[in-house]
Amino acid sequence: MSSYDWLNHSLKTIHKAGWHRSLRTITSAPGPCIEIDEQSYLNFSSNDYLGLANDPRLKAAAIQAIQDYGTGSTGSRLVTGDRPLHHTLERSIAQLKGTEDALVFSSGYSANIGTIAALMGKRDLILNDQYNHSSLRSGSSISGATCLDYQHCDVNHLKQQLEQHRSNYSRCLIATDSVFSMDGDLAPLREILDLADWFDCMVLVDEAHGTGVLGASGSGGIEACGCRDRAVIHMGTLSKAIGSLGGYVAGSAILIDFLKNRAPSWIYTTALSPADTAAAIAALQIIRDEPDRRDRLWQNITALKTQLTQAGIKTLPSDSAIICIPQPTVQDALNLSKHLQTAGIFAPAIRPPTVPTSRLRLTLMATHSLEQITTLCAALQGG
Ligand SMILES: *Cc1c(COP(=O)(O)O)cnc(C)c1O
Repeated sequence: MSSYDWLNHSLKTIHKAGWHRSLRTITSAPGPCIEIDEQSYLNFSSNDYLGLANDPRLKAAAIQAIQDYGTGSTGSRLVTGDRPLHHTLERSIAQLKGTEDALVFSSGYSANIGTIAALMGKRDLILNDQYNHSSLRSGSSISGATCLDYQHCDVNHLKQQLEQHRSNYSRCLIATDSVFSMDGDLAPLREILDLADWFDCMVLVDEAHGTGVLGASGSGGIEACGCRDRAVIHMGTLSKAIGSLGGYVAGSAILIDFLKNRAPSWIYTTALSPADTAAAIAALQIIRDEPDRRDRLWQNITALKTQLTQAGIKTLPSDSAIICIPQPTVQDALNLSKHLQTAGIFAPAIRPPTVPTSRLRLTLMATHSLEQITTLCAALQGG
């Protein structure tokens, strides 16, 4: 008997439920075609929506930053980790978002945890969309505030929760993904912001899957909903459409100054590496200068939706590069994913406990060809 025996028991339970996960190692550069175990696959599962993670300009910027500043940033931002690159990146993010300032974190996950924990406390209330990302939930519970869920994208339920509970608390934060990561639909951001004004709440919008994808300038869901002029805490990641690694918060200069003094996951961690920072700066410049990349992504989204409809394949409602095909059972979802894999296509089954119902989750990139999308649809029809 050892104090660690419970781990084995617990793992057995995970296996029995069919919930066990394991790693699949990709042995090639990222892109629409990838290699797994020396087999090549069409990749319909990347977060690299604009195809920037393997762009020569991002790679050159990262290499130059390593030459200039070395590999590690050697300390936290407030001690010895701060570099001119971080300030350039934060200015570019603020410019894209149309905010006064921005702050970069080690990841989107730690941006959410640190920000929510800094802003909220025991006397406060946090309202989360029921499908919010795990990092918003972790941040909410770490903060010590009272946390309530509202039904997915349901502003009437959110309003009811506010009417019933708001007055019992000091501050209130409404947190939502802009694009929901496992569904692909867009939150009703304008209505949420209107309710927030009425009930005196702050709003944090997680643009992990919106940045670079939505809005005329690629700023995200807030821009797409015509809400760029509203007071919002914008949050996002540098690791999806931006093709690098890290997270950010953008908003008023006062908010950013406050977070620099109060967000533990920013204060007590090492600054973003020079290479990651420089790659993100290069990506933001491309997002600004090459709107046609975003156009190509949207042409691909439209092409896939059209072909699926023509094939009579149902999808969940989507306003993004994430398109899900619902499946009746876990086994159906796994079978479909396996069938595609045999046909040389990589697209994962997403199943409980990650989501309430099983589905095949497809993501598109600007760099997919029409032919690759047609190949996917043909394989789905054969499934
Ligand atoms: C990926 C993701 C995050 C976390 O971002 P990382 O930079 O990968 O830590 C946060 N929120 C949502 C909605 C995400 O999809």
